[in-house]
Amino acid sequence: MTRPARMRAVVFEAPERFAVRDIATPEPATGQALVRVEASMVCATDRKILAGTFSRTKFPHVPGHEFAGTIAALGPATIGPPLGTRVGVEVHVGCGVCDRCREGLYNLCRNYGRTEMGHAHVGFTIAGGLAEYANVPVAALHPLPDAVTTADGAWTDNLGVALWALERAHLLAGESVVVIGPGAIGLCAAQLARAMGAGQVTLVGRGERLARAARFTDRVVDERDADALAGTADVVVEFGGTSEAARLAILGARRGGRVVLGGATGQGVDFPQIDLSTIVRGHLDVLGSVANPKGVSGRALALLASGAIDVASLTTHHFPLDQFDEAWATFTERRDGAIRVMVAP
Ligand SMILES: [Zn+2]
Ligand SMILES: [Zn+2]
Repeated sequence: MTRPARMRAVVFEAPERFAVRDIATPEPATGQALVRVEASMVCATDRKILAGTFSRTKFPHVPGHEFAGTIAALGPATIGPPLGTRVGVEVHVGCGVCDRCREGLYNLCRNYGRTEMGHAHVGFTIAGGLAEYANVPVAALHPLPDAVTTADGAWTDNLGVALWALERAHLLAGESVVVIGPGAIGLCAAQLARAMGAGQVTLVGRGERLARAARFTDRVVDERDADALAGTADVVVEFGGTSEAARLAILGARRGGRVVLGGATGQGVDFPQIDLSTIVRGHLDVLGSVANPKGVSGRALALLASGAIDVASLTTHHFPLDQFDEAWATFTERRDGAIRVMVAP
């Protein structure tokens, strides 16, 4: 594959200002692969990056952290998938030597942001995949199974986030699961729970998104009626990101049950007003979960390949890269029930 000198890319130029323009195609360094991006999605986190709330992201910045493509080149002396391999990307790469990395929890790397130590957060601290090409550390690549399309491969990171939350809960076959938040990750979690052998899976949310979610789960419950679920679920997984979502999650668990809070990944959401005896006398395990360590995305891809999960239906809109402003508006305004908007560079 030849590597052109210039490429089209989405560039976040400054807070709240972006453009699609020609920039130099990156050259892979040792330990990196150059990925020809074929499918790339936008997510609510990109909105926070564009707003300038991630202090570790420096403008101008090429965003994009939910993408898949084909290996076009490898850096010097780099061992990686052969050229032409289709890959999905997970976004956290740890330094590999700190205490957390050595536990496999590279999502919690103590050297966050220090690229000179090998840390990378693809699309956050280094350039991402809303471009024709992206440099990706080989450690972040997952070769896609034959049965997984490259477009579906763009869900590699999201599926890992959802699966990790369920693994945090030590979900057992036959257990009842409540998922709070019918966004992209919540819809992945509901499907993964079923694929892992859960009993009844219930999705809690509101409005058009909830109606759309009905086919991916056994039961949907409107958030306003969710108090009826109190004390019923073996496992509750929360991806709503609000204080109210966390409250419903904790109240939803049966005595001795497990609650995983995964929605509030940014600062500024308070722990809900809750009677502490709900947790203490309820004998609850209340856990936090962020991102997707331990290669969990690779296992998620195996479930995707088995056909147990449908992400294509969650990819509600498609645009070419040069129409990124339309793609962005469709996603941020949730036009036409948008869940995930895909861009083809
Ligand atoms: Zn995302
Ligand atoms: Zn580390």
